[in-house]
Amino acid sequence: TGIYHALPNLGHLHKIPTRPDLDTATFVLSQFPPHHQAKSRVALIDSATNQRVTYAQLHHSIQCLASGLYQGLGVRKGDVVFLLSPNSLLYPTICLAVLSIGAVLTTANPLNTKSEIGKQVRDSGAKLAISAPEELHKLAPTGVPTILTSRPLLSGDNSLCIEELIEGCDPIPTELIQARPTQSDTAAILYSSGTTGTSKGVVLTHANFIAVMTTLRWTVDGTSAQDDVFLCFIPMFHIYGLAFFGLGLFCSGITTVLMQKFEFNTMLDAIKTHKVSNIPAVPPVILGLVKYASKAACDLSSLRRVSSGAAPLSKEVVDEFRERFPWVQMRPGYGLTESCGAATFFISDEQARGHPASCGLLLPTFCAKIVDIETGEALPPYKEGELWMKSPTIMKEYLGNVEATAATIDSDGWLKTGDLCYFDENGLLYIVDRIKELIKHNGYQVAPAELEAILLSHPQILDAAVIPVEDEEAGQIPMAYVVRAASPDGLTEDQVIQFVAGQVAPYKKVRRVGFISAIPRSPASKILRKELVNLQSKQQIVS
Ligand code: AMP
Repeated sequence: TGIYHALPNLGHLHKIPTRPDLDTATFVLSQFPPHHQAKSRVALIDSATNQRVTYAQLHHSIQCLASGLYQGLGVRKGDVVFLLSPNSLLYPTICLAVLSIGAVLTTANPLNTKSEIGKQVRDSGAKLAISAPEELHKLAPTGVPTILTSRPLLSGDNSLCIEELIEGCDPIPTELIQARPTQSDTAAILYSSGTTGTSKGVVLTHANFIAVMTTLRWTVDGTSAQDDVFLCFIPMFHIYGLAFFGLGLFCSGITTVLMQKFEFNTMLDAIKTHKVSNIPAVPPVILGLVKYASKAACDLSSLRRVSSGAAPLSKEVVDEFRERFPWVQMRPGYGLTESCGAATFFISDEQARGHPASCGLLLPTFCAKIVDIETGEALPPYKEGELWMKSPTIMKEYLGNVEATAATIDSDGWLKTGDLCYFDENGLLYIVDRIKELIKHNGYQVAPAELEAILLSHPQILDAAVIPVEDEEAGQIPMAYVVRAASPDGLTEDQVIQFVAGQVAPYKKVRRVGFISAIPRSPASKILRKELVNLQSKQQIVS
């Protein structure tokens, strides 16, 4: 039939709960270690301060904050709460408290600019914002009431802060909440550009998260990772960090060592100090370990597993990693915001070792097909085409965008990933290329359409197109092809780079510019990006 199914089934302990009235927070809290263990079992450790949060404390804070938000601030079911913060001990508490009262979480990259934040606040319809003190200025122009995650070091701002709400409120009695969230309600709106265009709100339901958390628990149990100490530097605003560290790993009673943001030497120190055994990572970090870790004076003996996701990891780097760190299992995986996180995974190291170029098997609950881009036909093993997937974790829709939703999820519920892939005869997935426009810089999304709109606003630019250029360290960098208006020598590469850099988050910067007489376009005026990619690689060979 051309349909690939997940090979391993969920065991009876990992069946996805179908009770329609279940919500994400109730599910996660019900999976916490039992009361007598929760008092001493550590859920989170701050790598910078060594501050520890036990499961009992986490449970208590979530319920106190839920009370503060519901009773104190009047946040109600369906209200969107905007969270703008780097990773912190309070991040999971905020996420779970918001979800527990049926409010909807929307998260953003703290690197984003004021105007990018403003756009997301408006698009998501946020009623309340929760901000790290240093990011508050980006929210001020939106006029949305904002509370702080913590007291600013240099005070002067008297905004209410989360810590005060937690300390000042008693745990919320669940029966007090009048309209409780159900599985079909929206839990979160995360932003992704999908296969084309600019950033869109990916609407994820409680059912999506409950399914993801069940499969995540299955992977932890299946890989005997229950006793692992996890290290978190991947950002919790992104689905990868949110599903793992913001919500999911608590279902397995895991201890997580938290870093506010990634810094290579801090990571090495944290691994040594806390005897970290498991790191969900991204390709640039793995490359860094391969290149620099063996030279640095570091102790990685506690490591057992490193996984990789969010962007392609080359077979060469995987091979080198295994050679350098033979005691560490390397587990590449694949997923999207639109699938609420991971879709594939390796359950055994043996299987991963045998197939270093693969991203693993479909996770339980997933099925997939490889579709011929021209004919729409489902293809057999080893044939390349677009990966389509189905699972209870697939998003409901793009917020307020019927057209983009219909273009991404077909009437049978297949999510079109925009990734060019094939399966082998054992159901292992191989990612070959990206058909969609999306550029990934250090695992972060960069939407060419967004940069093109900025470039076109420049008075000396007549037309522009942005394409990815491969980069060893960052994976890809955005490159702009620009058609200059009027005087051909008027505008320099540096001027174009600076013009964009002034308006976007640092990871979205255009880092290279090519001048061209016309942007190749189809009769329907669609940019023919492949032609530009081919042109760029030819020019690279010549130079
Ligand atoms: P995001 O929604 O930000 O997680 O981006 C999802 C996209 O990242 C996918 O559609 C892929 O293009 C890319 N991606 C994620 N994981 C991998 C992987 N293991 N290998 C190659 N590309 C990946």
